[in-house]
Amino acid sequence: MKNFHALIVGGGGTGAAVAHDLALRGLRVTLVERGEVTSGTTGRHHGLLHSGARYAVNDQESAIECIEENLILRRIAPGSFEENDGLFVAVTEEDVEYSHAFIEGCAECGIPAQRLTAAEAFRLEPNLSAETILAVRIPDATMDAMRLPLRFFASAKSNGAEIKTYTEVVGITKRGNTVRGIRVMDHATAKHYEIGADIVVNATGPWSGQVAEMAGVDVPIRPSPGVMLALRGRLCNMVINRMTPSGDGDIIVPQRGLSVVGTSSWVVDNPDNLGLPKDHVQRMYDEGAKMIPRVLDAPFRAAWSAARPLIGERKADAESGRALSRTFKCFDHADEGVEGFVTITGGKATTLRGMAEATCDVVVEKLGLEAACRTRETQLLPFEAYYT
Ligand SMILES: Cc1cc2nc3c(=O)[nH]c(=O)nc-3n(C[C@H](O)[C@H](O)[C@H](O)COP(=O)(O)OP(=O)(O)OC[C@H]3O[C@@H](n4cnc5c(N)ncnc54)[C@H](O)[C@@H]3O)c2cc1C
Repeated sequence: MKNFHALIVGGGGTGAAVAHDLALRGLRVTLVERGEVTSGTTGRHHGLLHSGARYAVNDQESAIECIEENLILRRIAPGSFEENDGLFVAVTEEDVEYSHAFIEGCAECGIPAQRLTAAEAFRLEPNLSAETILAVRIPDATMDAMRLPLRFFASAKSNGAEIKTYTEVVGITKRGNTVRGIRVMDHATAKHYEIGADIVVNATGPWSGQVAEMAGVDVPIRPSPGVMLALRGRLCNMVINRMTPSGDGDIIVPQRGLSVVGTSSWVVDNPDNLGLPKDHVQRMYDEGAKMIPRVLDAPFRAAWSAARPLIGERKADAESGRALSRTFKCFDHADEGVEGFVTITGGKATTLRGMAEATCDVVVEKLGLEAACRTRETQLLPFEAYYT
């Protein structure tokens, strides 16, 4: 079998999972990342392993992807999660009304959901608001945003993948309408050079539109930032969500000794220029406190923003990006007349493995190979193995 060379652009969770999958299928793999691995959106999210319940009413495709991958990741990456479950809490009559559609949506998506009285919820989480009327328990969990992808990188490396950090793609080389490789700049030496490949996978998340443009194709991506607020102290031990359709400040994730409140949503053209709107930070306090009032008194640790790679036309939901699906999409740019170039974008950190499986199925088919995905059953190496 010819040893095909696949080049992956982007060292977030998605690129890591693609590298692992292709290396397991026997390809020669090189991944380039312009900064440190996980330095994009991946290293900056809440760290919530989604059960999918957040999307069970309005975005069921994404909800089903989340619950499926949530179960697979627990199996292949044991020890990476605090298996703390989550609560959706209703603090108004409107929230209670929504809980009916919520429980129904969870059932439709195969997400286990257990209705609790306020007293039962308080026994689990004493800091909940006194306004709590009911809660629903679902299988959310806390993950380490960086260490989970590092396990994919470590496993890819041990199967021969080369990971080149501080290596930025500045151009895509083509022969006719076929992509033949990439032009990169090494940030350590400021040298430019080319790397050839049989296929190039664009896994640059919110930057995927910019990288696709270098190949002369279009990816309808809407970089959609959100603000997160880290407070000192664990205000809860489970993941706390508000029983509402997705909105601002409706998630609190306990992360080691911190509590992370998120998030907001707006859209930008350039994912390198997000800013940190002060009113969004204030909204994290105001909305978070409706679920856990102690949010208002907890000492501030940090606030930051990161951009979701949402798939949507430029005009779609121009204000906030809330209505755009959290599902993912793999684009084979042969459909636009450019061969040898595939983009994977959208999705969640929770669905990184599933995104990679879908992409690598396309890659091997394009190369005329028969090589089945093995990542559902292959246990990942510990994150430390990435460094050793
Ligand atoms: C506020 C917020 C909260 C979130 N919370 C959660 C959560 O709790 N749970 C969850 O499951 N999901 C969450 N998400 C979604 C999740 O973080 C993203 O879907 C996921 O991290 C995207 O990973 P990625 O690898 O596709 O993109 P990225 O992590 O952004 O990786 C892309 C990489 O490409 C690199 N790159 C860009 N251009 C180039 C170039 N020219 N050359 C080389 N490299 C390049 C970048 O440096 C970057 O490292 C959240 C998102 C946001 C914005």
